[in-house]
Amino acid sequence: MRPFEYTRAQSTETATRDAAGGAMFIAGGTNLLDLMKLEVMAPAELVDINRLELDRIEETEDGGLRIGALVTNSDLANDTRVRRDWPVLSRALLAGASGQLRNKATTGGNLLQRTRCLYFYDRAMACNKREPGSGCSAREGFNRILAILGTSEHCIATHPSDMAVAMRALDAVVETVKDDGSTRRLNLDDLYLLPGDRPDRETVLEPGELITAVVLPAPVAGRQTYRKVRDRASYAFALVSVAGVVAMEDGRITRADLAFGGVAPKPWRDPQVEALLVGQTPSEALFEKAADQLLAEAEGFGANDFKLPLTRRTLVSVLTELTQEART
Ligand code: SF4
Repeated sequence: MRPFEYTRAQSTETATRDAAGGAMFIAGGTNLLDLMKLEVMAPAELVDINRLELDRIEETEDGGLRIGALVTNSDLANDTRVRRDWPVLSRALLAGASGQLRNKATTGGNLLQRTRCLYFYDRAMACNKREPGSGCSAREGFNRILAILGTSEHCIATHPSDMAVAMRALDAVVETVKDDGSTRRLNLDDLYLLPGDRPDRETVLEPGELITAVVLPAPVAGRQTYRKVRDRASYAFALVSVAGVVAMEDGRITRADLAFGGVAPKPWRDPQVEALLVGQTPSEALFEKAADQLLAEAEGFGANDFKLPLTRRTLVSVLTELTQEART
């Protein structure tokens, strides 16, 4: 690990100002410290934001929740309001990492964690995300855990978060503040960038821009679930995951909010899949058609070819479960 300066921020003003000058924010540090030990990331300065008052979960006027960026994954998963009204989020959080990591990992940090592509962590290997222009070792290499949607010739990495997939299905909005004091609200689709020819750029956040909260809209009617398929029962990243919120009325689907993890560089949502389902009577043929739509542009790279049928089966299974539950 290389030497670095460490300061503890007392306010968002000083934190964002320091970060705009080149420092990196640190909160739980559950991903950043590993990256620093491996010298994949080598910030000259860290700004510790743990003392900022961003650790509350508050109800919003319209019945939603504002989740402070420093709320830990454990506290969020166990919040009674989240468990009752947004269970897909609680389940996604509990499917991620381990109990110890969830006690340290924060909401903001979870959103900004880096890919777990093996080559990104191995400085002896070419990786456009770590070193732009060096190449992508994964395309022809061991890409079992990598993406089948939203990839580019320069990068096929997946976003590793479970939490973000559930938040994407719930239409969560990220709130930020910049060093000039201005704020903005971004939905998750706008927060994350696809790799294109700049896989080193993963979000639209500007230097010094701090995530302060994530806002969940008011709860909606329907059934929710988070299905995560992985290589072992715990402490493993998703090969494929589906966050779903499905509602039905008079035997027809009235809502099908679906987000996918483990398959793309960002939590993946396809409005055409949802449009195809809404208004229809559930059937296996309909669910297969939805999978056809989802995977129309999907591409495997050898070791991850299995993700195409796995994504199909997982989607069909989740839709079957949720529509059966929604009928009752
Ligand atoms: Fe690097 Fe992306 Fe290629 Fe992995 S997939 S080696 S992160 S460029």
